[in-house]
Amino acid sequence: MCDCPKVHLYEVEYKLEGMIVVPTHKNCGASLNSKQADKLQKDLIKSWGFEDEDEDKD
Ligand SMILES: [Zn+2]
Repeated sequence: MCDCPKVHLYEVEYKLEGMIVVPTHKNCGASLNSKQADKLQKDLIKSWGFEDEDEDKD
């Protein structure tokens, strides 16, 4: 698993492993740990311009 202190949104690619999509850090080639994946998801949501609370606004 990736153990890099900082993983940027654009350094992550999504690989299909069986039936699940695994976020993978391009720089080291390892899959993100749950803490990193959690942070990445928040960064992603931010980059889409959503706040944490409400995701189905138009
Ligand atoms: Zn890494």
